[in-house]
Amino acid sequence: MSDVVPVLAVIGRPNVGKSTLVNRIIGRREAVVEDVPGVTRDRVSYDAVWNGRAFTVVDTGGWDPDARGLAERIAAQAEIAIQVADAVLFVVDATVGITDVDEKVVRLLRAAKKPVVLAANKVDDQRTEVEAAGLWNLGLGEPFPVSALHGRGSGDMLDAVIDALPDPPPEDFDAPQGPRRVAIVGKPNVGKSSLLNRLAGEERVVVDDASGTTVDPVDEIVQLGGRTWNFIDTAGIRRRVRDASGHEYYASLRTSSAIDRAEVAVVIIDASMPLTEQDVRIVTSVAEAGRALIIAFNKWDKVDEERRYYLEREIERELVQVPWAPRINLTALTGWHVDRLVRALDSALEGWETRVPTGMLNAFLGRLVAEHPHPVRGGKQSKIMFGTQASTAPPTFVLFTSGKLEASYMRFIERRLREEFGFVGSPIHLQQRPRK
Ligand code: GDP
Ligand code: GDP
Repeated sequence: MSDVVPVLAVIGRPNVGKSTLVNRIIGRREAVVEDVPGVTRDRVSYDAVWNGRAFTVVDTGGWDPDARGLAERIAAQAEIAIQVADAVLFVVDATVGITDVDEKVVRLLRAAKKPVVLAANKVDDQRTEVEAAGLWNLGLGEPFPVSALHGRGSGDMLDAVIDALPDPPPEDFDAPQGPRRVAIVGKPNVGKSSLLNRLAGEERVVVDDASGTTVDPVDEIVQLGGRTWNFIDTAGIRRRVRDASGHEYYASLRTSSAIDRAEVAVVIIDASMPLTEQDVRIVTSVAEAGRALIIAFNKWDKVDEERRYYLEREIERELVQVPWAPRINLTALTGWHVDRLVRALDSALEGWETRVPTGMLNAFLGRLVAEHPHPVRGGKQSKIMFGTQASTAPPTFVLFTSGKLEASYMRFIERRLREEFGFVGSPIHLQQRPRK
């Protein structure tokens, strides 16, 4: 799911034929068009393909159920389109011509430097084409005369749309550059250096100059599971800088800088001892830094039935914030279960880099909102109009909403996102952009 599908937003005044045109673009006869005025369409985003190029079409006509002023409504459409779209299809009714509202939108689009394709719609025959020519005045370049109703001219328009969309990313767009960067962190004496010796011991550590990767002198390159990993700031683990003064302070600085440089952090916890605040703080700081996270319970050889019982309670109580983090039990001293670390690293990194295509995300959001609408507060109900995954590593989502969503509803969305798409081992950033 690492494909990056560009987004085309279709905007324009009501009744210019946006929905009819979207239907034409997605090649479906089924009615997106609602004849009942003011009825909210339950979807706004669709998957489309033209000339072998996939893209997502967003029908802004499906937004904004509570109509206020026309100008305000169009401005809101344009604003959202500018935020989420890679290109804009601006639809004008050629039989009506340019209005003040159209000119205002054009200014917004131009300021945002979005590529725009101008569709002069309702050009059902040759005769109307003359009127379309008048749209050159908008200053958006060539107007494409189309008839959304009959399909006339839509091929040329779609060619222009594909040209306006950004080039497809290279195949290995999401592929990591160089070895994966892993930080082993945890409070003193939990077994960090023992684990490192275990990992490095299997295959001799070599700093690989030939591969051209830059390796910090404090890092170590280790072969594991047939692949190369960069363990960060291992010098800090090995040397055990033990100044009498400020040891704690420098240790925590080192920990946070290692986390910052890493893609994934393995937090080691001594499972034979009660979980401490310091353990929890380190776990939390990994999630807050937006890095993939694995929790390793070490010294499992010293964990008996009774300790296990208490540990489970401690985990339930103290680690509720990160139910998504893979947990492994191991014994660094003997190497027991250490092989499971590689599998956990792989799945955490995969979760961290998961990308949900826009169409799939909005189909999911549509279902979610239909089944569990946001609670009504003070007679008003906030709605999710559209969502997009703005980035990966960590997965970051932006929801465009009609009003502010409550924190509990945001948590609910995050939970459902995880159920649907995984994101094992990764924090998720969920942002909302309520329309003011
Ligand atoms: P939207 O509000 O911009 O989404 O507009 P719609 O797609 O709902 O269309 C508004 C009205 O214009 C509908 O009655 C359509 O049938 C009509 N319409 C859309 N495209 C065309 C076209 O190319 N030619 C003609 N003659 N009518 C059209
Ligand atoms: P660090 O300070 O986190 O790097 O911890 P060390 O690797 O230096 O380990 C601290 C102590 O715990 C040493 O005495 C280790 O031998 C011991 N230790 C580390 N891993 C294990 C383990 O899996 N089981 C047991 N029983 N002891 C361990």
